[in-house]
Amino acid sequence: MAEIRIRNLQKTFGSTQVLKGVGLDVGDGEFISLVGPSGCGKSTLLRILAGLERQDGGEVHLAGRRMDALPPAARDIAMVFQSYALYPHLSVRENIGVPLAVRRLSRWQRLPVLGRWWPGSRACRAEIDREVQAAAQQLDIAHLLDRKPGQLSGGQRQRTALGRALVRRPAAFLMDEPLSNLDANLRVQMRSEITALHRQLGTTFVYVTHDQTEAMTMSTRVAVMMGGRLLQVGSPSQVYFDPANLQVAEFIGQPR
Ligand code: ADP
Ligand code: MG
Repeated sequence: MAEIRIRNLQKTFGSTQVLKGVGLDVGDGEFISLVGPSGCGKSTLLRILAGLERQDGGEVHLAGRRMDALPPAARDIAMVFQSYALYPHLSVRENIGVPLAVRRLSRWQRLPVLGRWWPGSRACRAEIDREVQAAAQQLDIAHLLDRKPGQLSGGQRQRTALGRALVRRPAAFLMDEPLSNLDANLRVQMRSEITALHRQLGTTFVYVTHDQTEAMTMSTRVAVMMGGRLLQVGSPSQVYFDPANLQVAEFIGQPR
């Protein structure tokens, strides 16, 4: 079971309270989209789930296990960013393989991995290579494994970032506006690929977007966030046809 339970999450930056007590249950295998205007706290919530930010109050559980105190690498989740966050000096193969290499190394061995091809036995490298190859095939980038991120299109970079998340076989994926840097056509295509990935893996997805169409078409449920609070959580049609209040109605109804 990989359900996520979020309880009364609070976060303040300086004098701004960004999360004002967010609670949310995400079911095992669910695809939930978190939507809301820019600055409402979506990324902060995701970063707390990923362990990249520490909350001031509240709790986060994954599969029944409290995970607030775990470092990012120990959480059974993978995050995909809008900016891709690839290592520019590593090939696609190495970028995708990094989490697998890191997992096999002790703490003091980890740093050099990012500078050159990972150490370890030939068998270990072959195993990593097999997993990288499988992920790359699934994402249709197997022919690009020797390129550097600088030699890729935006879509190919995003596929590489997805591959790096995929090889971890996480219990949950967190995606922060992964398609917003892509042009409209590619966005539509990647949308259905991510949906297909979700179906195939059956893994829990928390997907942040400011694109209502994306949220409505991809998700089992939609959570609408504004000003650090969740105003409504429901199926796409509930949120669309039966908005909880005027703010939700205005946000969901606004043309893009
Ligand atoms: P969203 O992803 O919904 O656009 P964010 O979670 O990125 O919103 O940001 C919510 C608010 O928190 C914004 O006002 C932003 O400026 C502020 N914020 C986010 N991260 C930091 C930080 N590290 N330091 C100070 N303020 C931050
Ligand atoms: Mg954001």
